[in-house]
Amino acid sequence: MNAILFDANECVGCKACVYACTSENELPDSDEDRLSDRRFTVLEEIDEDEEWYLRRMCMHCVDPSCASACPVGALKKTDLGPVVYDFDKCIGCRYCMVACPFNIPRYEWDSMTPRVRKCQMCRERVAEGKSTACAEACPTGATKFGERSALIAEAWQRIDSAPDAYARHVYGEKEAGGTCVLIIGPQGVMDALNPNIPDGPLPHRTWFVLSQIPAAVAVVGAGLVGVNWIIQRRMKLGDVTTTETREPTEGGAS
Ligand code: SF4
Ligand code: SF4
Ligand code: SF4
Repeated sequence: MNAILFDANECVGCKACVYACTSENELPDSDEDRLSDRRFTVLEEIDEDEEWYLRRMCMHCVDPSCASACPVGALKKTDLGPVVYDFDKCIGCRYCMVACPFNIPRYEWDSMTPRVRKCQMCRERVAEGKSTACAEACPTGATKFGERSALIAEAWQRIDSAPDAYARHVYGEKEAGGTCVLIIGPQGVMDALNPNIPDGPLPHRTWFVLSQIPAAVAVVGAGLVGVNWIIQRRMKLGDVTTTETREPTEGGAS
């Protein structure tokens, strides 16, 4: 299984990873510094004096809650590592957004045919045996793509060889049952990561919550399937008016 290792001690804040992601995913140019439907990764400045930075992006959980919560299988974990999204299956219920413990998926609120948007770990590139665009663009090796267990071993090697420079923690090795984005760095950077993610996999908890409201899930799910079918049908018939309904934007970033 593939993964991405981000080493905050090697990051110089150049944002080549962000620009490469924008280009690879044909996203519009933007100054946004928070994850959005047009930004699948951002670089957060943690300490200006120390020049510490942290990348935010989908963590590509080994056992992802977003996929577990999705009632129609629009999100799924692939054997190669990426957690991928299928727009054709999505009914727009946005349970994935609620279920994600890292607050990652975003929604195209301004679109008539809205998609859930997030990093897909450059799924086509990875399927071709290439590294992700962000890792390829990184000039210092702060973002590195490779096999997950090898990257975990390398992360601990880096920590052990410079114990004063690193917190003794590989974030993502165990959090949420393990993730395919791994983060290491000085304590000041690691403190900016969510400390409340339990070590065990979360999907069974997600399912437990959803299972408490089976009637609501069934009714809302069926309704959304119907609405989605009508929208898709009208689009195909060219019967969509130019009137656009905007929903309120959701708050909060990861
Ligand atoms: S970080 Fe969130 S969106 Fe990404 S795989 Fe994990 S649960 Fe899904
Ligand atoms: S893996 Fe691909 S989509 Fe994800 S942040 Fe890197 S460049 Fe962007
Ligand atoms: S490309 Fe590498 S060094 Fe530059 S901001 Fe991204 S992770 Fe840091």
